[in-house]
Amino acid sequence: MVCAIGNEKGEILERVSVPTQTPEITIPKLLEYFRDKEIEALGIGCFGPVDLNPLSETYGYITTTSKLSWRNYNICGQFKEHLRVPLGFDTDVNGSMLGEATWGCAKGLDTAIYITVGTGVGVGILAGGKLLHGMQHPEGGHILVPRREDDTYAGNCPYHGTCMEGLAAGPAIEGRWGKKAAELSGCPEVWELEAHYLAYAVTNYILLLSPQKVILGGGVMHQEQLMPLIREKVKQMLGGYVQTRELLHMDSYLVLPSLNDNQGIMGALKLGIDAKTRQGNGEWV
Ligand code: ZN
Repeated sequence: MVCAIGNEKGEILERVSVPTQTPEITIPKLLEYFRDKEIEALGIGCFGPVDLNPLSETYGYITTTSKLSWRNYNICGQFKEHLRVPLGFDTDVNGSMLGEATWGCAKGLDTAIYITVGTGVGVGILAGGKLLHGMQHPEGGHILVPRREDDTYAGNCPYHGTCMEGLAAGPAIEGRWGKKAAELSGCPEVWELEAHYLAYAVTNYILLLSPQKVILGGGVMHQEQLMPLIREKVKQMLGGYVQTRELLHMDSYLVLPSLNDNQGIMGALKLGIDAKTRQGNGEWV
């Protein structure tokens, strides 16, 4: 977990990283970091699923996470009680989307998506200039995708087996090929298959949401050979059906994050800024 202090210009002034252990161990460390910093607001971009419905009794809780000690944990309650500042809360990947929409490559856009591919797959969606929530928040990393005929890997999502995350996240790559993704850089077949699944998901997101930009981040995307393969496959899968100015320029349409891997923490900063503005306006915080 990364804690940082920043300002309304999006500048990160200082930061620390704290390993995610149990809430009993980790949360006091986070509270201690912020205790004497005189912050005016706090934004939290949290791994999910989380409860984002302000009318819900469990608003601000982490809910059905696979990290068992964090399941049904009232994370916002802890910070509210101890720091007493306006608090903004969203998923980590919606946070990254917001960072890019505020200070990065999605600035000024109405509709965009941010996909992270790492230990899991997550999708943050900006629609109509706002982060999309709905009844909870989108879980686009768990969309169901057909396993390719030449792939025998059973998938490792505990909920769905061969969903997107179960087939394409870092642990799935390791499970399928027997080595960590970072050790497989020189194996083209690994990245051809990975690009297939990511392109499959991206194509579906494009058809469903009509995003003006698609951002792909996370540890797996550090493999430089992936992005050109994904762009090519998305073009093939769309089959010429959707014709827009954006799709003619795939290099600037389907992109890596633009904020030096600060997009998540900068998005959290914006969540805090927005919470403070809402409180200033007398709105619900
Ligand atoms: Zn799943």
